[in-house]
Amino acid sequence: MSVFNELERRVEARMKKYKRVIVSYSAGKDSTVLLYLAKKIADDYGIELYAVHIDEGIAGHSDVSRRIAIKVAKELGVKLLGVSLKEYFGITIDELKPKFSLPPCAACGPMRRQLINDVGLRIGAPIFTGHNVNDDVETLIINMFRGERRRFLEPTGGPGMVPRETPFIDVSEETLEKAAEELGLPYKKEPCPYAKLSMRRKIIKHEMATRPKEKVIELQKVMRMIKAFHVTKLKSPRFCKYCGSPSASSVCRVCSIMKELGMLEERIRRTRERRKKFRIEDYIITDRWIS
Ligand SMILES: [Zn+2]
Repeated sequence: MSVFNELERRVEARMKKYKRVIVSYSAGKDSTVLLYLAKKIADDYGIELYAVHIDEGIAGHSDVSRRIAIKVAKELGVKLLGVSLKEYFGITIDELKPKFSLPPCAACGPMRRQLINDVGLRIGAPIFTGHNVNDDVETLIINMFRGERRRFLEPTGGPGMVPRETPFIDVSEETLEKAAEELGLPYKKEPCPYAKLSMRRKIIKHEMATRPKEKVIELQKVMRMIKAFHVTKLKSPRFCKYCGSPSASSVCRVCSIMKELGMLEERIRRTRERRKKFRIEDYIITDRWIS
């Protein structure tokens, strides 16, 4: 069980400084291992723990993830908050796909990130995610060779952002897979059906899987260095002129997506309403999901 001791040590080191913690829980292998360890540590230290699961509204995928999420949260005794993109933004990923110029992942990622940050702000807790070294390198490479300076420089901290903790960021995918298998808890094994649309990600994923994990970690260090060099050039933090979210430019990713979909007015209205009269139960489906 040494792999668990090592992983637990990483989670514990990040978690023990907080009184309240949110785990971003997709029901995949990484976040399942994270949630299991977070629960153990939360009990040891008396930390208040929430799991947040996002329903993207992808037929045949989101419903399976949701069922697993509920089962595992019940089994572990963790309070599960369920939020759907439909309720929050007014559109599911399935509905968005035919209307959007880019692959759906290009909308799903920013929407999920913004939603989860909002939940963190409301609850007043940092977000723990299960990202591993392979995810990190994949994302860095893709954003860099897409030439998406804005995405590459998307703020990851500062005003309006809750702290993000990634205790497994130096851990290989392989290690987490082994850990998830050993746990014996159910987790979602099939990737999102839209992930296969991203050919570049697939190629990079395959390339990394065939390399020793030490090489991947080396590559991550180089990529991080390049990013750090660019980020220091970034001016003071900005906020989106439509929704007020932290953003690398005057309009955030989500608002520019909504604009393309012709939903910007609705987006502004929803944001305004949420701000005026905020009650966490308005958009968190906890009880409906848990019962
Ligand atoms: Zn915005």
